[in-house]
Amino acid sequence: MASLIRLYVEADLQDGKTLEIQAGQLHYLKNVMRLGRGAQLALFNGRDGEYLAEIVEIEKKSLQIKLLEQTRQQILDPDIWLVFAPVKKSRIDMIAEKATELGVAKFVPVITDHTNVERVKVDRLRANAIEAAEQCRRLTVPEFEEPQALSKLLDNWDETRRLLVMDETAENAPDAVKMSDLRADKINIPSDAILIGPEGGFSPSELDLMEKLPFVTKVSLGGRILRAETAALAALALWQELIGQS
Ligand code: SAH
Repeated sequence: MASLIRLYVEADLQDGKTLEIQAGQLHYLKNVMRLGRGAQLALFNGRDGEYLAEIVEIEKKSLQIKLLEQTRQQILDPDIWLVFAPVKKSRIDMIAEKATELGVAKFVPVITDHTNVERVKVDRLRANAIEAAEQCRRLTVPEFEEPQALSKLLDNWDETRRLLVMDETAENAPDAVKMSDLRADKINIPSDAILIGPEGGFSPSELDLMEKLPFVTKVSLGGRILRAETAALAALALWQELIGQS
């Protein structure tokens, strides 16, 4: 049997409840996927696990879905943030989609000294991430913050969260750290954040500043210089492997 269409909704989910679907999702179900009355689909909202549901009514401007039964329980996702300098359109869309598949809990765009993309359409990124979460069977959708300056982010950082700074200049340092060198407690999964610089890399003063911060660990992803989006995805895959959740 082909896998069910999955849809993220905001409403609470519970047995027997009927939900009304409108606008974009209505168009998707009715006109794109051509589902009719009686068709089944899966719903999740990031809190109540996953439910099997059935379309019970389709009208011009609304569609009613009845929740049949809970099919998966909510689980706690690993607490990993992706802090990244925005890149150009297709590449940033790719980061939102692929990093969601790789389990990012929160996206934090940062403006660094060499960032040359100032405007970030967070709503578009969120829409990409929701689609990716629906498709990859996640039970949550990631959060997004508005872009902020790196210096401000570092000033306000909660020190209990490690900041793993991906640094291509770390490779030649005698004490270069690889992702697999990090301590990871597989029972008490750490709260971490991965920081990726812009295409131009971090400035020397940013690297110096971060070097001194107690919550920062600079990490090398190897001798090749990766594009920002490649670095983000490679770092996330290695992190998931590290904590044994890949
Ligand atoms: N300015 C650099 C390239 C920056 S690559 C140059 O042209 O020489 C963009 C970002 O990807 C970097 O800031 C870093 O966060 C990450 N990155 C790329 N390759 C990396 C590597 N081998 N190890 C760690 N981080 C890397």
